[in-house]
Amino acid sequence: METTRATSEETEQAWQILTSTGAYREGHFEFDKTGLHYDKFFQLPLAYQYSKNARILSVTLSRMIRRSGVLSRFQKGKTFTIVTPSDVGIPIAFWAGEVLDADRILWMPKIEGERTFHQFVELSEQDQVMIVTDIMFSGEQVKNAYDKIKSTGASVVLITSIVDRRKEVHEYDGVLVMPLLKVNSERHSPEECPMCKEGIELTKVQLG
Ligand SMILES: [Zn+2]
Repeated sequence: METTRATSEETEQAWQILTSTGAYREGHFEFDKTGLHYDKFFQLPLAYQYSKNARILSVTLSRMIRRSGVLSRFQKGKTFTIVTPSDVGIPIAFWAGEVLDADRILWMPKIEGERTFHQFVELSEQDQVMIVTDIMFSGEQVKNAYDKIKSTGASVVLITSIVDRRKEVHEYDGVLVMPLLKVNSERHSPEECPMCKEGIELTKVQLG
């Protein structure tokens, strides 16, 4: 486990919340969407069901962002807009909006199978966006949001999340990627999975 810019105290507290609520699990998991086998599983709604945890995780993330100095990249006179492409990102976005004093908060519902903005929502070059989500897995959801935001003329200043499973990713298209927690997960095809060979019990899980 590794963090980006959180203090060790913040990291420890965040991991403690994720572990104690079962939002973070170690074992042998098969994900429905990929069919691959993993040694770690995250389900952040299990942590966010307790309002105190939701506050702690989101406020800690927000404080880390503020401390990093990245907020100076948001220009005065522009609109500081938070966008979340995931459902679990909604409470994170609102907590972060409160702590970081955002002007707008938008989320992207799934409409006809695709994450997009609500009808009549308008973004423009006036908006400077922070994308926030619960967990970055492959990064596809964030990339989709990024493309949709950019197509409106708005700019993206920061991409953040509670967890990033991609240890090696630090930026996307020149935009800083700054999660609270980073974790590298083992990933295997069922044919080559060492956990299968060891006979470790397999748990099938759904990706939200
Ligand atoms: Zn396996």
